[in-house]
Amino acid sequence: MYRVAATNQYACPRCLRPFVTYQVGVYLVDACVDCGGLFLDNATTREVLSTFDRSLVGVATTLGIGKGETLQKGVNQRNLSCPKCSVGLQTVEVPAAQVELDVCTEHGTWFDANELPKVARAYKRSRGSLANDALGKVLDGALRAGPA
Ligand SMILES: [Zn+2]
Ligand SMILES: [Zn+2]
Repeated sequence: MYRVAATNQYACPRCLRPFVTYQVGVYLVDACVDCGGLFLDNATTREVLSTFDRSLVGVATTLGIGKGETLQKGVNQRNLSCPKCSVGLQTVEVPAAQVELDVCTEHGTWFDANELPKVARAYKRSRGSLANDALGKVLDGALRAGPA
């Protein structure tokens, strides 16, 4: 993994600080080093969950160390907006991982600190049987809609 840009033009939906862009293998990742969350486009999310990309899950794990339970009060946005289009993110439950994700069907999925490793492990355990759960359907819909 290496850092492509120290800041980019998009801001973390949770704490509104600029994202850092990382290149992880073939993927570009928008990450927030303050809260430990990351925003992945929906094709990448689909790919990570079906292949359990170790390097990407590893980056998410590293970003999440010591984060998540310690978000400062007042910095923590409740109604999240898409960092790219500002439309309200859609909440999608992943019961197998006991996680709620926030998705823009057009631009991507927001993973709070430590959510990506949890969801990726749940998908890995299910050996593909989660492919048609709510998240899978949302991502499928997003992918079918095609690029804007
Ligand atoms: Zn943040
Ligand atoms: Zn969007």
